[in-house]
Amino acid sequence: MEAFRAVTCALRDRYLPYHEGRLMWRKEQIDYNLKLPPWLCQPYVREPPNEHMHNVEEGSPRKRKYEDEDGNEISRKRSKKLKRIARRPNKATSAPKRSSDRCHDCPNPLGFKCEYKLCRQCCRTKCYVENLDCTGHRNLTKTRRQIAKEYEAKRKDIQNVI
Ligand SMILES: [Zn+2]
Ligand SMILES: [Zn+2]
Repeated sequence: MEAFRAVTCALRDRYLPYHEGRLMWRKEQIDYNLKLPPWLCQPYVREPPNEHMHNVEEGSPRKRKYEDEDGNEISRKRSKKLKRIARRPNKATSAPKRSSDRCHDCPNPLGFKCEYKLCRQCCRTKCYVENLDCTGHRNLTKTRRQIAKEYEAKRKDIQNVI
């Protein structure tokens, strides 16, 4: 149990800065086939029970059908290639299909009201680096900094008077 706990803590410490936006999760680090960043729990889609029962009843070796992401039947070779691309999107020869509901900078879903068409994480990083607000994400980085500056200036004024 102690070793288990230690591993859990090590994982938390490693990914927490990314989750909180203190470090930026870079695209080069994405070499997994997951929709969300690796530190978030995410569902694994199982085959429906009736399909599973059917496959069990059919028994062992049977011809597998290979399909692309749109459900078209394809060859085994093509299926393998698609899987390889999905695993390592950066090494794909052709640009992977990107639907419009994905963040510009990463595979996360974008915030629909985001001013920069980014996910929350990337938007937070952008606002932090470029000193911006995003009303869609209720990110007030620029405004907060402005307020802090004004507050600081007032404080100095008071000190000068004293
Ligand atoms: Zn945003
Ligand atoms: Zn993003």
